Amino acid sequence: MEIDARPLDGFAALGLDERLIAALTSLGYEEPTAIQREAIPPLLAGKDVLGQAATGTGKTAAFALPLLQRLGEPAATERAVRGLILVPTRELAMQVAEAVHKYSRGSALRVVPIYGGQSIVQQLRALERGVDVVVATPGRALDHLRRGSLHLDAVQTLILDEADEMLDMGFAEELEAILEHTPAERQTALFSATVPKRILEIAKRHLRAPVQVKIQPEKLAAGERARVREIAYIVQRRNKPAALARVLDMEGPTSTIVFCRTRIEVDELTETLGSRGYSAEALHGGLSQEQRDRVLRRFRDGASEILVATDVAARGLDIEHVSHVVNFDVPSSPDAYLHRIGRTGRAGREGVAVTLAEARESRLLRNIEQFTKHKITIESVPTAHDLRARRLELMHTALEETLTGGNLDAYRRVIESLAVDHDVLDIAAAAAKLADEARDGSADDEADIPKDVAFVQPLAERPRFTKAHPDAAKRMASADMTRIFIDLGRSAGIRPADLVGAITNEAKVDARQIGAIDIADGFSLVEVSNASVDSIIAALRGTKLRGKPVTARRDRKVKGVRP
Ligand code: AMP
Repeated sequence: MEIDARPLDGFAALGLDERLIAALTSLGYEEPTAIQREAIPPLLAGKDVLGQAATGTGKTAAFALPLLQRLGEPAATERAVRGLILVPTRELAMQVAEAVHKYSRGSALRVVPIYGGQSIVQQLRALERGVDVVVATPGRALDHLRRGSLHLDAVQTLILDEADEMLDMGFAEELEAILEHTPAERQTALFSATVPKRILEIAKRHLRAPVQVKIQPEKLAAGERARVREIAYIVQRRNKPAALARVLDMEGPTSTIVFCRTRIEVDELTETLGSRGYSAEALHGGLSQEQRDRVLRRFRDGASEILVATDVAARGLDIEHVSHVVNFDVPSSPDAYLHRIGRTGRAGREGVAVTLAEARESRLLRNIEQFTKHKITIESVPTAHDLRARRLELMHTALEETLTGGNLDAYRRVIESLAVDHDVLDIAAAAAKLADEARDGSADDEADIPKDVAFVQPLAERPRFTKAHPDAAKRMASADMTRIFIDLGRSAGIRPADLVGAITNEAKVDARQIGAIDIADGFSLVEVSNASVDSIIAALRGTKLRGKPVTARRDRKVKGVRP
């Protein structure tokens, strides 16, 4: 298995200088996306480029990095607008300006966004102070040109971003007018998700011998992906981890690879999933060969259920089968999408590919559908109510397994004595309710979930029977579990994630060894597997939770009695 010891080789090979590469490293980018690989070298060489790429493909960096490198450091005496980026909307203006700003870390270049709706006075002041790169919507740029507050005669590079959108929004005339104010010998790059005739006409008039760049998807052999169910959820970025948790709980995967764009995202998501009680491990280019081997071994053995990876790190992975592939973001090209989801649905088994997309990325999803000729069904993120239904369904399965397993005589006697006065069906229902409540210790009420974290499923409410482990019911039965008493509770600020975190980190046990968690004001009770109880208690001794020393011991109370 190959691991790239110098993961930024990819960017360096494109001719980007050290300062930019340092900025990319700090952002956690591991390697260029397709559009970056294709567009950066000609742009660095000063050529014009006609690029077909949608949002989410990494096109901003594809034009911003060469732009920054070619501009170099600004002249100390006089500043002039040397880079102009035109975009269709104010949101995009802000986003692109922010991206350019991030990539220009360590240089003195100044970037400003200029768009309608923002106070013109503020923009005038910024322009007066002198800027090197302007990111503007066409209407507002023309406004400033007419007022004499924007001068474009020093423009060396002009970027038209999302040109098809700009035309759709009726900016054709503004574009022409702005272009007229720029020097004829400038470099011009035009990016557009689609390249219809009118875009080609603009390119013909304003670009000089442009290098054409288009992300070509690979053709697939027929039937190759026949058994993969492809789903997408539209979620805001900040809700993605919580949405992912719900989707995982609904799906009950046996093994999952979650793909993220950067190694920073990989690390953050791995940590978040861990604190929610999943056994997730990170795989990215920053790991040593030894670490990487260990992570992969644990994933193959089933010791970790989720592998969170970047594309680079997952390349060439030889893993037989994963039940679920999750795209934490829409992949940068249909190709990348196919490569990722190709890891599931192998050998005639069923697989599921889940994509978490932001609303603005839905065009990219459609793009992928169009190229792969395969439907991606958009579904709603499961609600607490869905999860409850799912949990009852899993309980049904678990009960069936327990019935088949036998060894019920002791319980049968309890039921028999109750049956003198009650209906057997009612007794069974009460037993099921008791088991359910003992497991999560809390009522299911969606209203309990705070609004701004609407998708957050408190750890204690996670379904405890999972399809992934048919022995789940057995594993979670209290006979196999011992309760640990911890002398810190709600008033010390303790949350379930703190307990899971402390136990998994300090005692190095898998989160699956942990069962129900009850947090009272002055103490907490945590169910852990009998096998790991002593090592957990020993490991917790001498550690601190929320800054306070922990005392942990076996709980003396009778099991099942709530604090
Ligand atoms: P864009 O298509 O420019 O809107 O970029 C989509 C997202 O991909 C942004 O969040 C970028 O920060 C991210 N991105 C761009 N290039 C890379 C890369 N080479 N590696 C990882 N993430 C990237």
